[in-house]
Amino acid sequence: MFNVDRIAKAPDCLNSNQYNTQEVVDILEPMFHGKCYLCERDSLLDPEIEHFDPHKGDDAKKYDWGNLFYACSRCNSIKGVAHTNLLDCCDVNIDVFKKIKCLLPSIIDTADISVTALQDDVQSQNTAELIHLCYNEKNTPLRGITRVVLMDIIFNLHVEFQQYRLILKKKMYTPSEKLAAKERLTVMIQDDYPFAVFWKWHVLEDTFLNEQLKDVIDF
Ligand SMILES: [Zn+2]
Repeated sequence: MFNVDRIAKAPDCLNSNQYNTQEVVDILEPMFHGKCYLCERDSLLDPEIEHFDPHKGDDAKKYDWGNLFYACSRCNSIKGVAHTNLLDCCDVNIDVFKKIKCLLPSIIDTADISVTALQDDVQSQNTAELIHLCYNEKNTPLRGITRVVLMDIIFNLHVEFQQYRLILKKKMYTPSEKLAAKERLTVMIQDDYPFAVFWKWHVLEDTFLNEQLKDVIDF
């Protein structure tokens, strides 16, 4: 999960009880870097405006600017109305990255992605439980398909990540190739990059990369 710097001023359309508007989408999409706030996928084919606290018909929640989030349909449907009391990634007082560790399985794409709450407060526990489902749930035939697609995208990026690591590691590569690989990895650990949570945690957990990127790690 990544922190989002929510633009303070609410779009005017919310005052007239409209949220599914061009005005809201034009602000939400770039504000969340085009990424689903739960799984961190970008370039969404199925973006949805998600109510962080389910409105259940309550207009105060339905048109509350602070309650509107950008999500993919898979995560939105998994979250539903059952998952509440979660970490708010738009809260400037919460560093959501430090609260939940996400690591990829080493080789097998059918294995679960590891999602661990690092603190025992209820919000961290609830959020880790939800994110675990967003990455791993395959309890219906269609969720089985969307899970395979999701894992393919993440695994392809993981291969690139490991290729850049290999370039930094091997003596056969030139200084300019190593510099380019380091710059690529630096891009991957920015919050606007798809699935940045994994690349950041993999850098932190990897002794070699931690040393290589120590001058650019700010998390
Ligand atoms: Zn998602």
